[in-house]
Amino acid sequence: MPDRAPQPVDRQLPTDEARDLISLVRDIAQREIVPSAAEEEDAGRFPREVFTLLSDSGLLGLPYDAEFGGGEQPYEVYLQVLEELAAARLTVGLGVSVHSLASYALAAYGTKEQQAEHLPAMLGGGLLGAYCLSEPASGSDAASLRTKAVRDGDDWVITGTKAWITHGGIADFCTVMARTGPDGPRGITAFLVPGDAEGLSAAAPEKKMGLKGSPTAQVHLDGVRVPDARRIGDEGQGFAIALSALDSGRLGIAACAIGVAQAALDEAVSYAVERRQFGRPIADFQGLRFMLADMATQIEAGRALYLAAARLRDAGLPFAKQAAMAKLHCTDTAMRVTTDAVQVLGGYGYTADFPAERYMREAKVLQIVEGTNQIQRMVIARHLAGPEER
Ligand SMILES: Cc1cc2nc3c(=O)[nH]c(=O)nc-3n(C[C@H](O)[C@H](O)[C@H](O)COP(=O)(O)OP(=O)(O)OC[C@H]3O[C@@H](n4cnc5c(N)ncnc54)[C@H](O)[C@@H]3O)c2cc1C
Repeated sequence: MPDRAPQPVDRQLPTDEARDLISLVRDIAQREIVPSAAEEEDAGRFPREVFTLLSDSGLLGLPYDAEFGGGEQPYEVYLQVLEELAAARLTVGLGVSVHSLASYALAAYGTKEQQAEHLPAMLGGGLLGAYCLSEPASGSDAASLRTKAVRDGDDWVITGTKAWITHGGIADFCTVMARTGPDGPRGITAFLVPGDAEGLSAAAPEKKMGLKGSPTAQVHLDGVRVPDARRIGDEGQGFAIALSALDSGRLGIAACAIGVAQAALDEAVSYAVERRQFGRPIADFQGLRFMLADMATQIEAGRALYLAAARLRDAGLPFAKQAAMAKLHCTDTAMRVTTDAVQVLGGYGYTADFPAERYMREAKVLQIVEGTNQIQRMVIARHLAGPEER
């Protein structure tokens, strides 16, 4: 099938530096990510060398302060970088988003000493992070987690199992939420645990519907000893830190979702203008033209929503409600748009010869991670109507 180059997304970027950044990312995506994406996803291969390149290019610490190696970019720029990466390959875009999520606790709540010691390597030294909140028995109800950290002199000894951990088994550092006090959200503390700590191991990666190149695994902590200097924030503050990280992380997922949706739309348009039936390109039929127009409109609406939330965040204003709305809307959009893209390609859309079916499988996971879309609705409703009565 002849290739029609997709039209670049019209982006409103605040600075020349941001425009250069997007050009750099598009260049890396076209040279280093897109050519091997389908084959590597099929084989379940994680492209660690791409993350090394992104780190060397200053793209793994974009939203963080320059003082400790970050790129000091506003969220509205960082998220558009994520969108471009996810359009090239979700394993990469989501991986960068999860790495930022894992770095957030230390960057936002660590002491200056902790930040000076660890952040430069995390943000630009080639390290890869994991965010360890979920457990086999606590997903949506994350505050019921059971992994325990017990004080022993100047150390903490952590024991438990974390589930569904992106980069589980390959991460160089893990931000781990563990119980140090009573049941409920106030008994949880955050720790920065080295990926090679004694007693830390990972199970075999889960066999997933999509996003196969991104390892997702249980992480076992069997008496892992970390010094108190690796405790992040106060004792009992861990759940608040975890939720605060997720407010920002959800914007990353929203941007990734729009990237996947845009890639699917580009694919659908390229196909529809080339494929002929009844003696004309199928793009001539109003039934498909309207579908493409709806797909494009939903994508633009999603992009506008995540950018509006990002601009609130950049202005130092509350953005948690809008982040939940963006995550909900953009990931539902990605599911609809990728499903429609498969339809536009007809039978070929249902084969692995075209990436549309992969985009559809990838979109599904975005409705689940970092709070399912049911949980996003709960978050939004709490902002509207207050907490539910028990
Ligand atoms: C590929 C992948 C990568 C992931 N990466 C990470 C990671 O890096 N770190 C991490 O900590 N976690 C990670 N997760 C875990 C993810 O955040 C959880 O899967 C998610 O929060 C849902 O938890 P659960 O799977 O236990 O589902 P459950 O909480 O058991 O939910 C099952 C269903 O019940 C619904 N439900 C639950 N409670 C309510 C309610 N009160 N009202 C309405 N509906 C409800 C849910 O929406 C869902 O549909 C990952 C998951 C996947 C699949």
